[in-house]
Amino acid sequence: MIKAFDNFEVWFVTGAQLLYGGDAVVQVDGHSNEMVAGMNASGLLPVKVVYKGTANSSEEVLDVMSRAEADPRCIGVITWMHTFSPAKMWIHGLQRLSKPLLHLHTQYNAEIPWETMDMDFMNLNQSAHGDREFGHILSRMRKNHKTVVGYWKDPATLGHIAVWQRVAAAWADAQDMRILRIGDQMNNVAVTDGDKVEAEMRLGYHVDYVPFSEVLQYFKQVQDADVDALVAKYNSIYDTSQVLHDDGRTSIWNAAKAELTLRALLVDHKAKGFTTNFDDLGDVDVQISGMGFDQIPGLASQRLMAEGYGFGAEGDWKSAALYRTVWFMTQGLPEGCSFLEDYTLNFDGERSAILQAHMLEVCPLIADAKPKLEVHWLGIGVRKNLTARLVFTSKTGPGVTATVVDMGNRFRLVVNDVECIKSKPLPKLPVASALWIPMPSFEVGAGAWILAGGTHHSIFSYDLTPEYWEDYAEIAGIEMLHISKDTTIENFKRELRINEVYYMLNKALK
Ligand code: MN
Repeated sequence: MIKAFDNFEVWFVTGAQLLYGGDAVVQVDGHSNEMVAGMNASGLLPVKVVYKGTANSSEEVLDVMSRAEADPRCIGVITWMHTFSPAKMWIHGLQRLSKPLLHLHTQYNAEIPWETMDMDFMNLNQSAHGDREFGHILSRMRKNHKTVVGYWKDPATLGHIAVWQRVAAAWADAQDMRILRIGDQMNNVAVTDGDKVEAEMRLGYHVDYVPFSEVLQYFKQVQDADVDALVAKYNSIYDTSQVLHDDGRTSIWNAAKAELTLRALLVDHKAKGFTTNFDDLGDVDVQISGMGFDQIPGLASQRLMAEGYGFGAEGDWKSAALYRTVWFMTQGLPEGCSFLEDYTLNFDGERSAILQAHMLEVCPLIADAKPKLEVHWLGIGVRKNLTARLVFTSKTGPGVTATVVDMGNRFRLVVNDVECIKSKPLPKLPVASALWIPMPSFEVGAGAWILAGGTHHSIFSYDLTPEYWEDYAEIAGIEMLHISKDTTIENFKRELRINEVYYMLNKALK
């Protein structure tokens, strides 16, 4: 369905046993084949499911899980117990499996065949209790997994599997994700920093420092003709009617050169994301030496985000990685995602809202119309200069925003359902923006986010639902706090206190 996921597979393993004879296993195999073919043919699953046969013993379970673990195409395993499958035989295989696991509680037949059902049927179709036995060993082993309950043809059941597949795909993508960090965290900001060693151990991605002197090596190699071609492309895809003066055109040309520089750097390093630091843009005397960016590379960041490169401003490497993950999960979905910052509050009773923007770096995938490419003076950072940027307001409608913070002993994912409402033009602040009401209200939504220690930066998506984040937190084994229409401050504070104890004890339990 979606080309980006074509290289991935999810394996389907059916649990059975030989107690009822080889004929029963042959039937189990036939049913499983039919079910997997039906699931693939539904058009509802973004990643192909590959049936890997029945597992009837501890040796067979260990074998298939070892192969799943070793095969780079396999991004996760779905298990289903057609017959009763004594769960001690799953222990060693489940210990071997570190990839995402989904336990599907379903049944081959939808309805009970009241008139014809006999003991042979009962011995074959045992998932009602077989899946409970399997669920027990998952609980007993404290094995992170997703449980999906429902008939295998039901679009709702397939929808839950599809969400998990997208998250599993993004998880696989994160395991070799390299984030280039151009400069360090800016201005001693705490919330955007954290333990990069723990991030690699827990979340998979690697964060790598790149000195600006290395960026300059790429900058020097950019050809003028390539810059000219990129500027022509800008003119064809964006509304550039605001840029009438020569200084503006020069500024756009320099912004295009910055984009080509960063793109070459990212490609060469096989990186999937980057951070910038607006105090570290090359030679201090760039106007004389020509060695460096003459402006903050905001337009480049906007355009690279739209292509799927993770981006975090001011050295925010956790946001860069999370953006890449969100973009990867949502490939082929229609509404878009962006890095955003809580910018300014608008108190208006029950419609109180937060303007979401950034100095420049908002992804055009969330734009409600064709973005305008504009050039304006920007008087912040080491380069106070004319600066190119895409200007737009976002679509309206519901979405979800998320951030990861480092709590010292764990990563905490904070998720907030939000409602994007109509924003107004900002004639004196020409940046891209969204305007949203956090659920359940500005007062409670913003209050809970602040109590949770959430960042001022977050990664927003119209296409994700909280279920994606639940699956992500489950796979990663990190804390998740979800601020929704049902949140109250009283309950939220209780959850924070309970989680504090849970995560202290969690390692002892495993
Ligand atoms: Mn910022």
